[in-house]
Amino acid sequence: MRNLDRMSCALPTDLADRLLAWYDRHGRTLPWRAPPGRQANPYHVWLSEVMLQQTTVAAVGPYFRAFLDRWPTVAALAAAPLDEVLASWAGLGYYARARNLHRCAQVVTEHHGGRFPEDEEALRDLPGVGDYTAAAISAIAFGRRAVVMDGNIERVMARLFAVSDPLPGAKPRLKALAGSLTPDLRPGDYAQAAMDLGATVCTPKKPACVLCPWRDACAGCRAGVAEGLPAKQPKAERPIRQGIAFWTVRNDGAVLLRRRPDEGLLGGMMEIPSTAWRGQPWTLPEAVAAAPAQAAWRDLPGLVEHGFTHFRLRLTVVAGQARSPELARGLWCPLDRLGEQALPTLMRKVVRHALAKAY
Ligand code: SF4
Repeated sequence: MRNLDRMSCALPTDLADRLLAWYDRHGRTLPWRAPPGRQANPYHVWLSEVMLQQTTVAAVGPYFRAFLDRWPTVAALAAAPLDEVLASWAGLGYYARARNLHRCAQVVTEHHGGRFPEDEEALRDLPGVGDYTAAAISAIAFGRRAVVMDGNIERVMARLFAVSDPLPGAKPRLKALAGSLTPDLRPGDYAQAAMDLGATVCTPKKPACVLCPWRDACAGCRAGVAEGLPAKQPKAERPIRQGIAFWTVRNDGAVLLRRRPDEGLLGGMMEIPSTAWRGQPWTLPEAVAAAPAQAAWRDLPGLVEHGFTHFRLRLTVVAGQARSPELARGLWCPLDRLGEQALPTLMRKVVRHALAKAY
């Protein structure tokens, strides 16, 4: 391969050995990891990898420990009510992952005798397990050779081989390059080592090349282009959607909640009822027609803003006391029990906004 020619004469096995030696000394200690050279618990690996999709290591730590305290085995998680899993997941975002997590635990328990399959193909058949997670579980939990690609490893590969093609188009090429380095021995440690190198040394800004075990082989570093890699296609501006959220109270102070449909964004999570979210602003008569109860609504000052992957949302919050609470569409929740509900981050923002502005 042309890029391999541009590297120094280091052999792939040499590079893998150097990275593993670095990992043995400098790898991160994380709650779901086994020490270098030891096999990790597949349940721990799977749980952490699902949590880590789109979420940082620092944010995942407390959730991972709380899940293990509550559901120490995959069978225990499978037997848990979905609502409890969603409530424990609240704050991690991307709630379809929590629903898939629960479904996956049930499939592993019912169809695989409580043991995760070892090879990538069988793992990919499990709910919520894609290419990355399947490769990570197969390599890390079972010591099978698998090419694990996450954002950190893509960055390291783009720099090591000075690949200037932009992402996402360059992904297959970066995976092939990563595959050329993945060793037969200790593939799980190798994958974690590459992730750690990207997270702690080959960081997005100002990579610490002087600390890198691959420095003398790194084409990007040698050419002085490392920090600008990987190149990325410019992102399209995310459109803005707007909606009205209804902070509806009963005369005893209880607040009206509603469960979102199972399918779609924030599926199955609880919410402060709101209008649909759309491009054009809502007029007051339109919003009143979509309200979950009859009330004299008043605007609360300010907006609640939240970013989703494909759009940004601006919610105006209106508050009112329900005239006929028994006719309201939703569930009444005492104010001091809101914290027990599976409210996603957006809805927690709405609650905070209402508590600050409505009383
Ligand atoms: Fe990244 Fe620098 Fe190491 Fe190259 S030498 S892989 S740019 S940290």
